[in-house]
Amino acid sequence: MTIRNNTEKWVFIFFVSLVSVGGSLLLTWIAAPDGLNPDSLVPAIGVPLMIAPVVSLWFAGMMLRIQELNRQLEHLVRHDQMTSLLTRRAFFDNFEELGMKNSGSILVADIDRFKTINDTYGHQIGDRVIREVASILKARSKPDGFAARFGGEEFVSFYPGECIQHAEIRAETIRAAVESQTIQVSGRELSFTLSIGVEFFDGSRPLDQVLHAADEALYEAKREGRNRVVRQTAQSDDNETR
Ligand code: GH3
Ligand code: MG
Ligand code: MG
Repeated sequence: MTIRNNTEKWVFIFFVSLVSVGGSLLLTWIAAPDGLNPDSLVPAIGVPLMIAPVVSLWFAGMMLRIQELNRQLEHLVRHDQMTSLLTRRAFFDNFEELGMKNSGSILVADIDRFKTINDTYGHQIGDRVIREVASILKARSKPDGFAARFGGEEFVSFYPGECIQHAEIRAETIRAAVESQTIQVSGRELSFTLSIGVEFFDGSRPLDQVLHAADEALYEAKREGRNRVVRQTAQSDDNETR
């Protein structure tokens, strides 16, 4: 039995009270020597009516609280604490829920020369940079896409039903947004950049292989000088899905 909202809570309280009164009347009718009469009716109805709503209200409140805690726990398990993006595991779960037949595009992104940011400004500033990039990625993955933090300064996002050409344009807007974003460090503007690899998932290869291909595109972007988007060439331009 679950109570998911206030309406269900009041329905539950009403139902429990009704059953309690019914049960009490039945017991009184069976147990009382002269059955149901005006003298026995008052306590038979009054006592359960005083107790049942209070107890069921408390019980329903507990159920709602437990469910809220479960929701919070699930959110904690599925989301990265620092960025509130999905965790790697939750990304794979989400992907599985969509079904392997689902096609779409995958972006693998990595902050450029992030070690230098850490070494120059410290880990706290490094963390702020990670959060900024994550929030850009999250905002630009709406409404259908989902983004995850796969590790340190690496992110993966998936856009169901999106062809690689559109995903490349999306990746470019993400890259440009990161490039133009700055954070204040000791009164100075610190800027940072992102490299992105793009690959298409059409269900013909396992996700691991597609991620590996997107990774290769990302490393190509790094080799070519960083702060750029590289798309795997396996997907032909006329193979649009949207
Ligand atoms: P590249 O452009 O080739 O990606 O170079 P990079 O310096 O970004 O890559 P590298 O893999 O050499 O460095 C990543 C660094 O990220 C190393 C690690 O200490 C740091 N890092 C990993 N996780 C975190 C984190 O949660 N917070 C901070 N501040 N740093 C992290
Ligand atoms: Mg990096
Ligand atoms: Mg990295």
